[in-house]
Amino acid sequence: MTVPAHPVPPGGTLGILGGGQLGRMLAMAASRLGIRTHIYCPEEDAPARQVAAAFTCASYEDESALTAFAQTAGAISYEFENVPVSAVRSLARLTAVHPHPDILALAQDRLAEKQLARQLGFGTAPFAAIDGPQDIAAALAATGLPAILKTRRMGYDGKGQRAVRTESDCARAFEDLGRVPTLLEGYVTFVAEISVIAARGRDGTCHVFDPAENIHENHILRRTLAPARMDAAVTGRAQDMARAILQSLNYVGVIGVEMFLTQSNTLLINELAPRVHNSGHWTLEACEVSQFEQHVRAVCGWPLGPALRHSDAVMVNLLGTEADDWQALASEGGALHLYGKAEAKEGRKMGHITRLYPLGQRP
Ligand code: ADP
Ligand code: MG
Repeated sequence: MTVPAHPVPPGGTLGILGGGQLGRMLAMAASRLGIRTHIYCPEEDAPARQVAAAFTCASYEDESALTAFAQTAGAISYEFENVPVSAVRSLARLTAVHPHPDILALAQDRLAEKQLARQLGFGTAPFAAIDGPQDIAAALAATGLPAILKTRRMGYDGKGQRAVRTESDCARAFEDLGRVPTLLEGYVTFVAEISVIAARGRDGTCHVFDPAENIHENHILRRTLAPARMDAAVTGRAQDMARAILQSLNYVGVIGVEMFLTQSNTLLINELAPRVHNSGHWTLEACEVSQFEQHVRAVCGWPLGPALRHSDAVMVNLLGTEADDWQALASEGGALHLYGKAEAKEGRKMGHITRLYPLGQRP
């Protein structure tokens, strides 16, 4: 069956797999364009549900629920990359799904992501797959020490990663991670971590936001500075890399490309997020069209908007109990976003604040 390629008009419905804060902010952006959203996820207390026109609580394996969901939606996308590819493939037989399920499959595998980066001629940390103890010696020879062992699949916010300082560390880390397929990466001493948020429409047009600089604590994003502190030539190169990735994948939607900037101004690709990204939240206030609206436009077949930044910005994540003091936060200035999550577990992203500064005047 061929899936119709006509756009989702105002009044139409965009389906989103996943009900977290990214889905919530996508639904809010869609609603401004007159597009309804239908959220599908297995959790009842989904932050996106509070702002969506329709909600289905069902498992990603429930074929009849997936079919019913697809029948309501003119297009479907996803807000996190650990959705089973099988569910996304089923939906793609019934309606337009963006980004393509093959791209989701690629972005679920750290090895495939790094191989793509290399095929496009981009640098990455040295890496080697470890599928069993027999692979360890050769992998260490390829990456050197120190290194980081990462599960190939399902990691996020530093989960599924172990630091490796010695050969015996590596064997222990492999056991510790559950003997699943892993990727060993040489440790990169970067001067900054940056991300490039970029969009490609159904017509192939690309818009790339200014690269932002990301400061992590305990492997969780703490702060994003927009724009990143780097010179214009490096900025241009980072944007060209993101554009090349979008074009090579025939991508539709927003992508987040995480990179390391080294002392010698080399950019290395770290990972790809086939979705809107935490490090792009600043675009809500600092750009005419945000990453969320851009994603809705792209997957619904609309023209993209301008990715221009009219202000500098600092975005700070509110983690765990930090959002409990919402009255103080609300009085401090800045754009406050709270995600409507009931339980403030440690490290959980509960909201964020974005502060704007005139261009070039960020402290
Ligand atoms: P995820 O974001 O899916 O948890 P990442 O691969 O982005 O996984 O790793 C999380 C963080 O760990 C990165 O943002 C970076 O700070 C650090 N890190 C990851 N890989 C490397 C590496 N090869 N060298 C140095 N630091 C790394
Ligand atoms: Mg990451």
